[in-house]
Amino acid sequence: MNLALWLQATARAHAERPAVAHGTDVVFNYRAFAQAAAATARRLRACGIAPGNRIGLFMDNTPAYLPLLWGTWWAGAVAVPMNARLHAREAAWILDNCTASLCFCDDAHATDLRQQGMPTGAIAADLAMFLRGQDAPDEPMAARTEDDAAWLFYTSGTTGKPKGVVLTQRNLRWMTLAYLSTVQAVQPGDSMLHPAPLSHGAGLYHLPYVLQGGVNVVPTSGGLDCAEFFSLATHWRNASCFAAPTIVKRLANWARVHKSDTSGLATIVYGGAPMYLADIEAARATLGPHFAQIYGQGESPMTISVLPKSVIEDGAHPRWRARMASVGFAQPMVEISIRSEDGEPLPTGTPGEVCVRGEVVMAGYWNQPESTAAALRDGWLYTGDIGALDDDGFLTLMDRSKDLVISGGNNIYPREIEETLLLHPGVQEVSVIGRPDPQWGESLVAYVVPRGEISTEQLDAHCLAHMGRYKRPKQYRFVAELPKNNYGKVLKTELREREARLDGS
Ligand code: AMP
Repeated sequence: MNLALWLQATARAHAERPAVAHGTDVVFNYRAFAQAAAATARRLRACGIAPGNRIGLFMDNTPAYLPLLWGTWWAGAVAVPMNARLHAREAAWILDNCTASLCFCDDAHATDLRQQGMPTGAIAADLAMFLRGQDAPDEPMAARTEDDAAWLFYTSGTTGKPKGVVLTQRNLRWMTLAYLSTVQAVQPGDSMLHPAPLSHGAGLYHLPYVLQGGVNVVPTSGGLDCAEFFSLATHWRNASCFAAPTIVKRLANWARVHKSDTSGLATIVYGGAPMYLADIEAARATLGPHFAQIYGQGESPMTISVLPKSVIEDGAHPRWRARMASVGFAQPMVEISIRSEDGEPLPTGTPGEVCVRGEVVMAGYWNQPESTAAALRDGWLYTGDIGALDDDGFLTLMDRSKDLVISGGNNIYPREIEETLLLHPGVQEVSVIGRPDPQWGESLVAYVVPRGEISTEQLDAHCLAHMGRYKRPKQYRFVAELPKNNYGKVLKTELREREARLDGS
């Protein structure tokens, strides 16, 4: 079954409903969306594209993104959405790695790719030509099996070259059904705002809206403009979005200062990085009871665990605080197991590597049998995250295994130190990393974005008052901002590199 059948079915049932909007303007209703996707499939076939061929998308968030993506599926091809902020050299590397036949680009990205020596015939920049086609609805849809690849999701490559996560038709289907069953139900006319790139996890969340006849809204700013966000959230019905924790914080700060109208919000789904308790409490106080958390990764897209609204709003529960600090329980299509380094299941409460199996787990990495064999063992995906399950099945993440710091033989999870430092009113943002230490093996360095005047001595005293001595950062570095990727995740790798340079100087 081809995923594009969902679009076809919704277009039949809800032809006139808004499907894709640019700000407050409807660009495609469902009839036009399906026609544009079918027209894209027809044009792709005319270019010689066969089922299974890879098609890149290297462009900013625009309304055209979605029909091009669904047209790629209609033709049975595999979409390779790429972060529009990659350097064209990196995008060219990805296209070469997956031997893409063609890449959809806007003009600016097309120019950049040509400068990398990419042949003009492999770049599709005349997007209007692809999307045009009143007569296309009869365009046959390619047959697909559940095991066929649908989306190659390239990891950010912070440790070496990016890897292409192969997401199948099955993975995307179950991910969508998981969203609808545990994150929130979607009705025709409900809206999903896309301030984050469609090429990444947040973009995957447009699928439930296509299946249910909701409207996917691309902001005219192309990204996150808080004023625009809140005005769109009042214009469109039951507005939801996916937001990394730093984006949640920005939205909450803005709404507090500008007294924004939040009555149109349905759900802000947060995830992708640790959410600190202090931040989610502040966000709920300003934005209201509109939060759900998910934990996932490219290899199990958006779907490992969920902390649903019903738990987040159940403040009377005796273990509410612990639950808020967790990432919730397994979504219905996955099973979670905590394992030791040698793959042995660990008892409840013991931290170990989070392993997952189920319908949403990737097929493997594109053409990388060794990395695939390391990540997928005995049917389990080894996520590289360290976590522990409690008696109720709630999963608490400590850190990525590579972020764990071992100092004087003690395992220290930087997240715990970050949570503690954030309790101090003089700390606006913080990220803690390890650095080599001749005496202790590793020691902690805290990068702090201060709020007002704050000294190292004050922070040290605060840490001593809250946790074991050995966990105190040995060094504080005060910075104006933390390096983040365009989804709002703090780039610890960049901080570690910065630290290594400082050490060497
Ligand atoms: P990516 O594949 O780039 O989406 O990154 C996935 C990683 O982000 C996961 O392996 C986790 O380390 C982290 N992550 C995702 N969701 C959460 C969450 N809710 N809380 C903490 N970390 C998360």
